[in-house]
Amino acid sequence: MKENKIRLKFKGSKHHRLLAFLLIIPMAFALSACGSSTSEKDSKESTIELYNMDTHMTVTAYGENADKALEKVREEVNRIDKLLSTGLEESEVYKINSGAADALSEDTYKLLDKSLQLYKDTDGAFNIAVYPIMEAWGFTTKNYKVPDDETIARLLTLATPDDILFNRDEHKIAFAKEGMKIDFGGIAKGYTSARIMEIFKECGVKSGKVNLGGNVQTLGTKTDGSKWRIAIQSPDKGDEYAGVLEVADKAIITSGGYERFFEENGVTYHHIIDPKTGKPAKSGLQSVTIVSDDGTLADGLSTSLFIMGKDKSVEFWKKHKDEFQFVLLTDDNKLVASEGLKGSLTSDRYEVEFVSAK
Ligand code: ADP
Ligand code: MG
Repeated sequence: MKENKIRLKFKGSKHHRLLAFLLIIPMAFALSACGSSTSEKDSKESTIELYNMDTHMTVTAYGENADKALEKVREEVNRIDKLLSTGLEESEVYKINSGAADALSEDTYKLLDKSLQLYKDTDGAFNIAVYPIMEAWGFTTKNYKVPDDETIARLLTLATPDDILFNRDEHKIAFAKEGMKIDFGGIAKGYTSARIMEIFKECGVKSGKVNLGGNVQTLGTKTDGSKWRIAIQSPDKGDEYAGVLEVADKAIITSGGYERFFEENGVTYHHIIDPKTGKPAKSGLQSVTIVSDDGTLADGLSTSLFIMGKDKSVEFWKKHKDEFQFVLLTDDNKLVASEGLKGSLTSDRYEVEFVSAK
């Protein structure tokens, strides 16, 4: 893990007192004219950068309590990473996967509950039990390989969330079949960004933003009251964005086949597995962006809709349109978005088609 560094803007200076003296008369006038000087304090910006969960993270908070909040965020992100990291022997998920877990922590309990709910709601697209298949493709170790069909067929028999025995009363988990393993990689970053928003609120921060490797969540508006402008990354990671969303108080989470992949014999294989085939999902989409109040949901759904493809995604959205909005970038280079994003989504690069709920 790289060392975390803190970067603070608006640092104090030695000449503070002299300046204060010189400014005291105009300041007093300004105070009586404006009522208070809090707007300046409210717009004080602090940022930390972290490397965690295999991801570069930038967390920004505004106001007097920003530094305090960011220290808590740093601790919390470390804590969640240590809990969920599949490769770390001390992690809770590692213990679950090796059958050695005790009572579940509150975090894992919530993530498991949400994941199993999503499995049902998405008709099996969101499946935390695909982990043995992720291993077979080498995504867990970066020793990439294309598994043979027999291996995939065998491992698919373990990718069955109905065989996760979740004892909600005792907060315990067990697997009905030997060899089953789970992984919250499809939902963990959204859970983390949602936790960060909670910390902001607990600390009295009213405006802030986190970017976890392209997955963004915002609290409130910018300090001047305007909305945040959040870019949707282009699949080729070029300078030109796929689109821009203007939002307040939302998670904006993107899944794409270009995030993590390898190539073999001229074929590209990415890390989002279709649980029906055990292979990287091919559904005619380059990326899916979900906009929602709920970061955890947004992350789970970005993975799920990427697997579902356009038509199923639209049907799914019609049933859940109060919970989220979407932007799909199709293989034929069009942006298809839900109508709730009209007025908030723009693109210089692609044609945008809005889908209505009727
Ligand atoms: P990213 O982590 O790159 O932002 P996603 O949110 O789409 O992208 O998560 C992809 C991760 O989700 C994979 O690395 C893997 O850990 C996990 N995963 C892959 N396929 C599925 C699936 N069908 N259901 C749930 N999780 C999945
Ligand atoms: Mg996801």
